[in-house]
Amino acid sequence: MSEDMKRIAIIGAGVAGLACARVLAAHGHDVKVFDKGRGPGGRMSTRRAQTPLGEVRFDHGAQYFTARSAGFTSEVERLIDAGAVGKWEGALVRLSKDGKSTPLANETLYVGQPGMNDVVRALAAGLWVDWGVRVKTIAPVGPLWALISESETTLGTFDQIICAVPAEQVAPLLDDCAPTLAKLGAAITSLPCWAGMFVFDRPLCIPFNAMRLVDHPVVDFIAVNHSKPGRGDLASYVVHARADWSARQLEDAPDVIAEQLVQALTAFSDDAPNLIYSVAHRWRFARVEVQDGIGCGFDEAAGIGLCGDYLSGPRVESAWISGHQLGLRMTGMAGKSKTQVQNAGRE
Ligand code: FAD
Repeated sequence: MSEDMKRIAIIGAGVAGLACARVLAAHGHDVKVFDKGRGPGGRMSTRRAQTPLGEVRFDHGAQYFTARSAGFTSEVERLIDAGAVGKWEGALVRLSKDGKSTPLANETLYVGQPGMNDVVRALAAGLWVDWGVRVKTIAPVGPLWALISESETTLGTFDQIICAVPAEQVAPLLDDCAPTLAKLGAAITSLPCWAGMFVFDRPLCIPFNAMRLVDHPVVDFIAVNHSKPGRGDLASYVVHARADWSARQLEDAPDVIAEQLVQALTAFSDDAPNLIYSVAHRWRFARVEVQDGIGCGFDEAAGIGLCGDYLSGPRVESAWISGHQLGLRMTGMAGKSKTQVQNAGRE
């Protein structure tokens, strides 16, 4: 191992952690990523479910993403070439209370394929990632840091640690070893979201593939899940409740929530097919309200970095930018031209 090469652990294999890992690994560092999830996803999760009519995959977290920056656009192009990303097309609208619809966005809406978590899977390809490991403690060992898991296993010792977990989960990890960075996470309050996932024996009669509802008392977003590329033909729907409604019902039983969300969904359909699968998932920390945050954080003396959407903005792209920026900062590439950065791994 050369002197410049560092052993770096990343806690959290969401978009932010993996974007950072890719920059650091491309610079020759020895990067190990740990995630408590059983597989790729984070807030870009996909749930597989068995129904009487067959298997279905629901995206129950992020529904789609956009690419506005040059860096993320070229990453998305790479993922399209790899077959992990496609376009969500058709009628994707914002629906006002009086039934008027306008386009949801004037830009391309991308989705992972065959599921949203395939974006995360593709970002993790070629990296060392250990799934199903919840990191509990970061402990000093001389000039290094040891990572300890929830089951009290030592996961290794590292020169540097990156914390790429949602805002509310930062402080328990960093309070002792990087209190200033810990405060950045502690300052954020994420909004909750109840997500309902439903399958019917035939499609509902809804003239849109996606609807963002303006001023609806319960629902924020409805996705015709099977209208996304690669999802199969089963009539599947995802309903995201409004954040304020979700906050009020946060401790309610999932069955009760699912019932209310399916009622709100079917109210948009003239036809009434049979419901054959229904479940609700609670995102306690779904989305942040931050716009244009500081991007990322790095305590150089301690060798501890911080990235995630809450430092940048409430979108998949913001999470990627945060992780990518941290990687560039730690490798001294921040501020270099795009070509210099792209070539950095090959020099
Ligand atoms: P995460 O994806 O949360 O990744 C953090 C990772 O850290 C997780 O995989 C977690 O398992 C892991 N972790 C946490 N603690 C530990 C620990 N102690 N040890 C090990 N691992 C740990 N964005 C859009 O652009 N468009 C949308 O339409 C959209 N809709 C959304 C709808 C919902 C319901 C939700 C929940 C989010 C939505 N978002 C959307 C936001 C988007 O999903 C996030 O901004 C983005 O995925 C955040 O990425 P991240 O890497 O910062 O965090």
